[in-house]
Amino acid sequence: MINITKPYLPDRKKLNEYIDKIYDTAWLTNNGPLVQELTKRLEEYLGVENLLLVCNGTLALQVAYKVLGIKGNTITTPFSFVATTSSLVWEGIEPIFVDIDPDTFCIDPFKVEDAITVKTTAIVPVHVFGNACEVEEIESIAKKHNLKTIYDGAHAFGVKYKGESLLSCGDATTLSFHATKLFHTIEGGAIIFKNREDYERAKLMINFGINDSNLIAELGINAKMNEFQAAMGLCVLDEMDIILEQRSEIWDYYENALKDHVQLQKRHLQCTNNYSYFPVLFESKERLMKVKAAMNTNGINPRRYFSPSLDNLGYLKPKELQTVSGDIANRVLCLPLYPSLPIDKMKEIIDISKL
Ligand SMILES: *Cc1c(COP(=O)(O)O)cnc(C)c1O
Repeated sequence: MINITKPYLPDRKKLNEYIDKIYDTAWLTNNGPLVQELTKRLEEYLGVENLLLVCNGTLALQVAYKVLGIKGNTITTPFSFVATTSSLVWEGIEPIFVDIDPDTFCIDPFKVEDAITVKTTAIVPVHVFGNACEVEEIESIAKKHNLKTIYDGAHAFGVKYKGESLLSCGDATTLSFHATKLFHTIEGGAIIFKNREDYERAKLMINFGINDSNLIAELGINAKMNEFQAAMGLCVLDEMDIILEQRSEIWDYYENALKDHVQLQKRHLQCTNNYSYFPVLFESKERLMKVKAAMNTNGINPRRYFSPSLDNLGYLKPKELQTVSGDIANRVLCLPLYPSLPIDKMKEIIDISKL
């Protein structure tokens, strides 16, 4: 069985050494030494400051909204994983969808301003499939209307924009370190804050609001990363070079073989590729379904990332539908992409994609 991705399992011996350390100290969670070490190493690796590790990418979004005081409604993209929208709704914030650009699949900055209402407090764009949003336009609109920006960077681990980390954009950027993501800690995530004060408050908030003097200083929740998660992250981080090299080979191979047969996502010219996804866009839903069925028959499971377009979610009040996002969602398929994907399978996937 070939799935869209396969969780990366790092060197077992090294992981055991970290686990031995955890057994020695019996420090299992609550900002332990491995969480501290991973924080430092990720800040260095990504070239960012104020990085706070949390237990998953969904709580990363929720905590970021809370810290930044987001309420009322928020402008967001309908073309993403459901957590971008559900995290808002869960926090009592109304998502206002703005359609995407049909080529980049990211929120269309030219449509953002028209959607802003008196209740709007933030913009939550997504660097979908690791492709940078139009951050300059979005930041300038946010500044003009006094809105916060929180980027869902779940797909953008390690991506550079104009030579610097894309993840330093906005008031906050969140990451997901779920097992299926490019870099993972089994389950996990992070928030990268622009301001140190926001980082400090978030650090209390993820531990029930308890401060260093053991006083309850804030309304909090439990969103801490534990030491076993950090141990996995430290091991995977050591192997990022090889992971990226192997992914880039597969990505390039797909691109060369398929670029004349299907439409590919137009990537921002000034951002690097982290090779996290390989989305292909067919000319019709019928062709997509035919290709997908043929792959499934051969034990290959690509995924319809992202379908449905999130404006169609059953728990939202029916509103105007986002036509571009709805159309892309109907025709997009992400092909299997992970370091140990066998070459013969890759060729089979390419042949079926051309059906
Ligand atoms: C994976 C993902 C999330 C959620 O992250 P979890 O760590 O699984 O909670 C949020 N947004 C996007 C775009 C994602 O792909």
